[in-house]
Amino acid sequence: MRILVVEDDPGIAIGLRANLQQRGYAVDVSDRVAQAWSALRVERFDAVLLDLGLVDGDGTELVRRLRLSPGQSGAYPALPDPATPVLIVTARDQVHERIAGLDQGADDYLSKPFDMDELDARLRALLRRAAGRSSPVIRHGDIELDPALRAVRQDGQPVDLSPREFSVLLVLLEARGRVMSRHQIKACLYSWDAAIESNAIEVHIHHLRRKLGSGLIQTMRGVGYFIPQEERR
Ligand code: CA
Repeated sequence: MRILVVEDDPGIAIGLRANLQQRGYAVDVSDRVAQAWSALRVERFDAVLLDLGLVDGDGTELVRRLRLSPGQSGAYPALPDPATPVLIVTARDQVHERIAGLDQGADDYLSKPFDMDELDARLRALLRRAAGRSSPVIRHGDIELDPALRAVRQDGQPVDLSPREFSVLLVLLEARGRVMSRHQIKACLYSWDAAIESNAIEVHIHHLRRKLGSGLIQTMRGVGYFIPQEERR
């Protein structure tokens, strides 16, 4: 899951990035509205953590523009996804400011100073809703994936996955029925400054197949990978 942190306090930004990376997220940081907007145009983010008081303006301006964006639709330059979940994280904690932020289109609101576990829980709730899931645990066949515990079970038995393997499986499960290209999977997993081996995704898929069975993840040659929808019985 890839997160854009929009925050102009370097201490908070660095702390947030390190903590979220430890929790398995790919994190990019912007410190101003214009830069964040450019980032949203070139990459797909699963969620935005947004400070309000920024160097070049107010974070609510970014939410407003994002929600008004007509979306990708093959346009060039690409347009940000207007449905991207936004969690406002700010020291402004007046009730009317919270209301204004939510009314501009933010999904949730957290006051500084915040607890990192609470922030992560709110983020998981946003990602769950964005994926259209009501249950916190993802079930598929004999596989159970718990995003909060970052744990996977197959037939009730724990499966030992690396953080990257876990993330690839989560991305493919959330996208069930849709083919994800290598580039799309990579974009969910790695931030701009990450050094990536060109065959990294293939290697993760290979390991996942070895650990979970070869039938789960299917290849569409020349396009990408997918997990088929379960047939309804
Ligand atoms: Ca600020």
